[in-house]
Amino acid sequence: MRNYYIAGNWKMHKTRAEAAALASALVTQLKDGKHQYLVAPSFTSLETVAPLVKGSNIRLGAQNMAAEEQGAHTGEISVLQLKDLGVQAVILGHSERRHTYHEDDALINKKVKLALQHGLEVILCVGELLSEREAGKAQEVCETQTVKGLAGVSAADLARVTIAYEPVWAIGTGKTATPEDADAIHAYIRQVVARLYGADKAQQILIQYGGSVKPDNAAQLMAKENIDGALVGGAALNPETFVPIANTCGGRSGGGVL
Ligand code: PEP
Repeated sequence: MRNYYIAGNWKMHKTRAEAAALASALVTQLKDGKHQYLVAPSFTSLETVAPLVKGSNIRLGAQNMAAEEQGAHTGEISVLQLKDLGVQAVILGHSERRHTYHEDDALINKKVKLALQHGLEVILCVGELLSEREAGKAQEVCETQTVKGLAGVSAADLARVTIAYEPVWAIGTGKTATPEDADAIHAYIRQVVARLYGADKAQQILIQYGGSVKPDNAAQLMAKENIDGALVGGAALNPETFVPIANTCGGRSGGGVL
């Protein structure tokens, strides 16, 4: 059975001292947590947070990385630098990267393959804009982003990939997909993975939901068969909101695929 995986994306928030305080609180409060957890601080706080989560049940993630291993790429952060800091996973294809910074599927795919090649885990974000949902294209958009994002990824490497379905219109807006609508897209993404990698891999892959997940809606979302946890933005910024989400159990517990 797939265990839940709850990740906190701290985005461009927190000084190092604030990040340390949040990480320490989460380590203490989630030490008996039954699920899998990750925090993704800003690059500037990774070195501070790394020793605090080391040896705990919370993985260290980055929010992005360059598509090249190293070189003349002013302002970018390489996979080698992330690994050097103890980063275990990287969020790629977040809607803010796709839509504010114009990252396309080809670039995201390059990053996905580079991260996997260097042994990192990947959280690959997919999701439709409101206009695309209203035009009936939510499935098509998620299918394209999934297929193109995973192009060239081997079945063995897929074990280190989590997909996060994040409808763009639900991110940071307070609007959440209904559990039924979210589950339908998750099921569709699972079918796409089955077509690419076979039914067993599709059953194993974790698909998180993201988009205004809060303590009061997490349980209904995670009760759905195809929703395997959450990628949390705003509510990940303090323990009072993140810990209840992280402890949500929609019926599954223990185990763990990753
Ligand atoms: C996110 O940034 O991935 C996210 C889901 O944000 P929020 O929870 O604030 O909607």
